Amino acid sequence: MTSFSPPTVSNEKVYYFDNNATTRIAPEVVTAMLPFLEQWWGNPSSAYRFGAAVHGHVESAREKVAALIGADPKEVVFTSCGTESNNSAIHSALYMNPGKKHVITTKVEHSANINFGEYLQKRGYDVTYLPVESDGLLDVHLLEKSIRPDTAIVSVMYANNETGVLFPIEEIAAICRSRGVLFHTDAVQIPGKLKLDVKALGVDFLSLSAHKLHAPKGIGMLYVKRRTKYQPYLIGGHQEKGRRGGTESVPNIIAFGRAAELAMSTLEDENTRVRALRDRLEDFILSRIPNTVRNGNKEQRLPNTANIAFDFVEAEAILLLLDQLGICASSGSACTTGSLDPSHVLMAMGLPPMRARGSVRFSLGIYNTSEDVDYLIQHLPRIIQKLRDISPLNPEHPDNESYDIEAAREKHESDLAEALAEEHAPAVS
Ligand code: PLP
Repeated sequence: MTSFSPPTVSNEKVYYFDNNATTRIAPEVVTAMLPFLEQWWGNPSSAYRFGAAVHGHVESAREKVAALIGADPKEVVFTSCGTESNNSAIHSALYMNPGKKHVITTKVEHSANINFGEYLQKRGYDVTYLPVESDGLLDVHLLEKSIRPDTAIVSVMYANNETGVLFPIEEIAAICRSRGVLFHTDAVQIPGKLKLDVKALGVDFLSLSAHKLHAPKGIGMLYVKRRTKYQPYLIGGHQEKGRRGGTESVPNIIAFGRAAELAMSTLEDENTRVRALRDRLEDFILSRIPNTVRNGNKEQRLPNTANIAFDFVEAEAILLLLDQLGICASSGSACTTGSLDPSHVLMAMGLPPMRARGSVRFSLGIYNTSEDVDYLIQHLPRIIQKLRDISPLNPEHPDNESYDIEAAREKHESDLAEALAEEHAPAVS
């Protein structure tokens, strides 16, 4: 990877610890896509050479993306994002098996699955959301027991975007195969961090999103195993061999291809240097900042993710103060930002709501340096102390000698509800 200057906001350096939300576009990727914005803007479906040449580059990008996951290029369908890929896989399974009305997924999926499941329920389908253990792991026996004769598809994520916890995809795929049920995995968080091999995994469908691997937003991919019956989600032209209508986003596809090549070369860095940075950050927080807890299984997780609960403080307040120092982190999925509800992932793991509300995700990446971590750990203890000093939830708060944690929690929740109600109150003109 080419190194380049750190990102800035208003000329201030940004310390970026939110790589599970999105990633910086690699300079090599920008270089690869530029000619397709400036010179080669033809439509790849056009018959003349100006279009056909572009088509050739799209196919070469497809080969690169296929190589990233060990697939045949014919099994790669370009989509607009991970969300579209997830929706398309489930939609296709239901459409192709009209007698089957049951879908199995988990309570900790990305909203791309959770909300699609709720949409399906409103349309008369039955969706089972499997629970997880307190460390975020999945009980595969429970999954197996949940499969019914009318189950059309099981859709389980590979790595959780909030905690980094990994699910045993190969094992789940084998169960589904033996029961004759289609299996889809949302592997959006995997490229560049773990090796992907769809054949070894034995999945029928697999989703990726390019903006998680240093390519632009707005391009994703669905792997559809050879001979799997497939119904397009977007109906239109004959693009993608009739599997997705819509003119191909050529510059983004080219970018995805280049990013796929780079992702294979960064596995080593993610699993050694980035992992060591994550561990240093996590060890520092857990050993130096009191009342902190790791969320999620320590071993079965991505090398870049640390999700930590800071008791007696609100994650939103921590993030606000970090932001003032140019540090980017998050309290859950970027797609749920703005919601005052605690993370559905942490709630499914059985965390008390207050602890879930005090949890922050730090997700590192190949552009993070040791200096970034130094900067974060230099400031974090003071931020937490400052917030705890004024927190009504803190038992060590000077005004909290006769501290009743339940009463504090209730008051805090009613204050939040009041604040929310005010925010949504109609303006008086
Ligand atoms: N699945 C997971 C696990 C994700 O982390 C994300 C993005 O945060 C998505 C799906 C959705 O991907 P996209 O933003 O490309 O729609």
